[in-house]
Amino acid sequence: MAIEKTYVDVLEDFKQLLKSNRLKYTKQRELILEIIYNNDGHFTPEDIYNLIKMSYPDVKLGIATVYRTLTLLEDAQIVSSISFGTQGKKYEFGLKEHHDHLVCLECGGIEEFFDETIEKQQEAIAKKFNFKMTNHIMKITGLCSACQAK
Ligand SMILES: [Zn+2]
Ligand SMILES: [Zn+2]
Repeated sequence: MAIEKTYVDVLEDFKQLLKSNRLKYTKQRELILEIIYNNDGHFTPEDIYNLIKMSYPDVKLGIATVYRTLTLLEDAQIVSSISFGTQGKKYEFGLKEHHDHLVCLECGGIEEFFDETIEKQQEAIAKKFNFKMTNHIMKITGLCSACQAK
């Protein structure tokens, strides 16, 4: 899914966010944002940690920093997450074009989709209840085709 904001702008938002939380800007914190911005997909904190370790072996980074930074970014809606229940969360960049997800409970695989009818229907429901919709999360859970075949 396409991203509608440049990295420079996103980084600026992130620096402001750190400042307003009285946190220092560090290269480590930026790398967490950068990995999510530049990689299409959905990542656990461990995935992000491993990607940074692989790409930047010299950078000192603790997994706790990854967790904390992701929470901060999620609160500011710069990243969003999909919950896997007890298995935790997978994160993606939050300012991508709107889409929904199919989540495989067996392998953790995620497919993205966009369906005009579902979108319209949700707006109609909100309208019916005189509800001002600001967001929705639509997640279909189950087994992907590969896992069904096993
Ligand atoms: Zn699967
Ligand atoms: Zn997604």
